Amino acid sequence: MTTTANSLREIHSLHQRSKAIRDRLTGVPKNIAARQAMVARKVDGLDKAKKEMTQIKVAKGLKEVQRKSLLAKIDDYSTKLMNVKKNEEYKAIQNEIALVKSQLNKVDDEIIDYEIDLEERDAAFKLLDMDLKKAELELANFQKQSSDAKLGEEAKLEELANSLLNAEAVINPDIREQYQRVIRQRGPEAMAVVEAGACMGCNMSITSQMLNDLINCDTLVFCRSCGRILYMAEETEKMTKRIV
Ligand SMILES: [Zn+2]
Repeated sequence: MTTTANSLREIHSLHQRSKAIRDRLTGVPKNIAARQAMVARKVDGLDKAKKEMTQIKVAKGLKEVQRKSLLAKIDDYSTKLMNVKKNEEYKAIQNEIALVKSQLNKVDDEIIDYEIDLEERDAAFKLLDMDLKKAELELANFQKQSSDAKLGEEAKLEELANSLLNAEAVINPDIREQYQRVIRQRGPEAMAVVEAGACMGCNMSITSQMLNDLINCDTLVFCRSCGRILYMAEETEKMTKRIV
């Protein structure tokens, strides 16, 4: 049996399809790990945001306590004011009240600032939370889809391996060893189609002797530049057959 361009073409296609499936299968755990890392980062971000909000709430609570004590002070002074007899004392208390009121204004402003900050942080937190839920859902969907597809892909891989065994049977036993060695080393990258007189693996032109060898099909033809096993494109093969 001779190695026809047709069988090498089929063999190359089978190797490519097998590799694509293998790459998909080996890529799944990496993809899942990357998605899990992303979810973990989002969880950390949410935790950090939550802690910061708690700290601000605590600070706001302290200001509210301070506010109450200032109000109580004002009440206290106002009571005293009603009972004082001396004008001097009256003025002194009024000054105290004015001082406490200015402190109260400052505390009120600070409480409002905390409230505005908390509202903004709360809105940002909700967005982060939605973003996390989306990422978690996407991760779960991806895990399910990958595991659903796995059995089918493994069956397909076995099918391709069987087709490959059949297709490889047409390779001349003299050269099969050599073929298997380069395939083991480079996988589908070990082969390239020749189009318009050039190796499509590296774009180097092939010699007329190589073209003859490709037409004769009784030996493996290697690209002199990239070392790939060459085979003819379907169109080229039809044309050479017409000429011959
Ligand atoms: Zn090449």
